[in-house]
Amino acid sequence: MASITKKAVFIAPLLAILLFASCPLVAQDEEREKLREMEQQREFQKTRAINARLDSAVELMKLEQYEAADVKYRSVLASMKSIPSDVAYYFGRNSFHLGKYKQSIDWLTKYIQLKGTTGQFSEDATGYLKRAEAKLVEQRQVQSAKAVEVLSRDFTIDCGPSGKVQCPVCNGSTVVIRKDYLGEKYSTCGFCHKTGFLTCEEYNLLLRGQLKADNVKN
Ligand SMILES: [Zn+2]
Repeated sequence: MASITKKAVFIAPLLAILLFASCPLVAQDEEREKLREMEQQREFQKTRAINARLDSAVELMKLEQYEAADVKYRSVLASMKSIPSDVAYYFGRNSFHLGKYKQSIDWLTKYIQLKGTTGQFSEDATGYLKRAEAKLVEQRQVQSAKAVEVLSRDFTIDCGPSGKVQCPVCNGSTVVIRKDYLGEKYSTCGFCHKTGFLTCEEYNLLLRGQLKADNVKN
């Protein structure tokens, strides 16, 4: 009995010292573990929020609310570190409906590059891509047609037998009225030399923005 008690008396402080010494280490590990869990939790919640936003964007797109869907898709794109292929497909498809054909082609091509012909959306993506390409060609044709618009300023206008035109700057009054914060300011028209008329040559120059005013220096 006596010897056991003696041993216990001897061992107890030793145990206490050991426990005490290892305590900070255990606490540190626990702290680290807790932080890691919190970080994981945060990541998890973030991912869940992004997925919810993506779901609602897809829903809006299916309801043909493409502008509203676009806002959500953009926010999803902005908050993702790397873009999954299905997001590329959805954004490309929505861009098509917004008439952003170049953008649509860009994202749909990404999807097809990633997934080939066996992806969940491969068939749809290929379909939308073809439509977007056709629309882009159409759009470019319209734009180049606009570029060759025939404009009157590229031609010389025949002013008729009189050879003169009422000055369009002062409407023939020889006086130009300028309005500023102080009120109306009257000044002599600088183009028609106080006659209220332009020669045909002057008139054509004016149409091209090449007629210089008399009083430019004043
Ligand atoms: Zn004038």
